[in-house]
Amino acid sequence: MPGAAFEIGTAHIVPGSRQTVNLPVSVLSDGTPVTLSVHVVHGRRPGPTLFVSAAVHGDEVIGVEIARRLLRSPRIDAIRGTLLVVPIVNTFGFLHHARYLPDRRDLNRSFPGSGGGSLAARLANLFMTELVERSDFGIDLHSAAVNRTNLPQVRISPSSDRTVALADAFGAPIVISAGLREGSLRQAAQACGVDILLYEAGEGLRFDELSARAGVAGILRVMHALEMISQKGVARARAEPMHASSTSWTRAPAGGLVRLFKGTGEYVSVDDLLGVISDPFGEEELEVRSATAGVVIGRTNLPVVNEGDALYHVAEIADPEPETTIGHLTRQLGADPMFDEDEII
Ligand SMILES: [Zn+2]
Repeated sequence: MPGAAFEIGTAHIVPGSRQTVNLPVSVLSDGTPVTLSVHVVHGRRPGPTLFVSAAVHGDEVIGVEIARRLLRSPRIDAIRGTLLVVPIVNTFGFLHHARYLPDRRDLNRSFPGSGGGSLAARLANLFMTELVERSDFGIDLHSAAVNRTNLPQVRISPSSDRTVALADAFGAPIVISAGLREGSLRQAAQACGVDILLYEAGEGLRFDELSARAGVAGILRVMHALEMISQKGVARARAEPMHASSTSWTRAPAGGLVRLFKGTGEYVSVDDLLGVISDPFGEEELEVRSATAGVVIGRTNLPVVNEGDALYHVAEIADPEPETTIGHLTRQLGADPMFDEDEII
């Protein structure tokens, strides 16, 4: 039996239909209205409500591409429950290719916000009341900052076995359990009983195929685990993700030009040579060695570094499974039948 219409803003979305709804957020200085635009896919059959959000940080555009691919996937044509997709949460930052809001606030430190507060607080509040509080679960899509890249990874605060199981179902190569940051969407959502998977992949202001594909495939796997869609057309993850609960940064011991020898997804041992920093004349060279053992989950792509700049982010994993490397993920995605050739271009 079909369920009730989904009401959001002034829209009534009847079961078995989909619609983009524009929720008013603010008005710019020149009078241009700004909206939080949500695409609602309301299934004919009742089921859970899942939200997928991207560009909470306006320059993290890989999530916008993942949202676009998700919305044109035929796999969401006949879902059970309701899928809410917000490709761009921080429209202001997105327009300026910037992480922050115009008032220099970080939206992901401004939750849960308030209706009468700052621009950041109002946007956070609207997102909480219209999306988070009406959802059973959420997936928030992020990337590394500009000039940095992240290995596709899922971050959770393990509040329940179910959340850990859904993080595993996503099928990213690594799942990192981390504490909640004050003011983050994840913290505010968990406080009202909605757990979130935070997907981190790729570089700020860039698209890359691996991050996009791993993201779309992961969301569909989670939707399958939530029984919103069938297994049909959803590629199984072939390897269990690695788990880490602590990560560490390797920073530049000197300023200069750095040549880095390790990529994301590579395993490093204690004392491995990670890179060399030299002055512009090549007269002084300084080796950078690993202080920990683990998997590189993030690194800089900018060879010009100041002393103290973060070079590598390593998830501490003493004994990685050889079959769960990035190479395995690449092979898996290459063999993935769910994408048409024209989607790869
Ligand atoms: Zn982010």
